Amino acid sequence: MTEAGRHRYLIALGSNRRLPGIGSPRAVLEAAIAALAEEGWHIEAVSGWMASAPVGPSLRRYTNGAAVIAGDLEPAEALASLQDVERGFGRERRGQRWRSRTLDLDIVLWSGGAWHAHDLSIPHPLFRERDFVLRPAAEIAPDWRDPVTGHTVRQLAARLS
Ligand code: ADP
Ligand code: MG
Repeated sequence: MTEAGRHRYLIALGSNRRLPGIGSPRAVLEAAIAALAEEGWHIEAVSGWMASAPVGPSLRRYTNGAAVIAGDLEPAEALASLQDVERGFGRERRGQRWRSRTLDLDIVLWSGGAWHAHDLSIPHPLFRERDFVLRPAAEIAPDWRDPVTGHTVRQLAARLS
């Protein structure tokens, strides 16, 4: 066990909305990292931020990035902690899947391998197809291995480009 915590999580961050008092989506993501640290997460690495094209009907551009965070929480509690941080940024859940969103925090991988519960799948089911997840993830966790395919994050990112 390390001082930083028993478990490590590779998380994906995304925002496509300015937040009054904070500013651009990029500023939102930076503030989210600070909020995660305040929640007790040890921030091991943060990628650069990248702008990506909007998905679905929203016309706003997304800013995305990735981080490696460490702590003692098991996956269910880790997801709850991430959702607390999302709520702190005013994210509303109104059932429209691709609406504009202040902050999205997803668990991509964790140090414990595969994990499945009714409301949580790790690895994140879509991460292998998402350039905006894999590119920043490859910057900070290139050698992390997908327990399902056996490929590293670097290999998965290379397959997309
Ligand atoms: P999106 O798929 O765009 O991230 P949401 O952030 O609204 O959509 O998440 C919808 C639900 O996805 C969450 O309530 C959560 O229970 C579930 N979920 C399943 N696997 C994961 C994961 N690996 N990381 C984050 N959320 C997940
Ligand atoms: Mg999410």
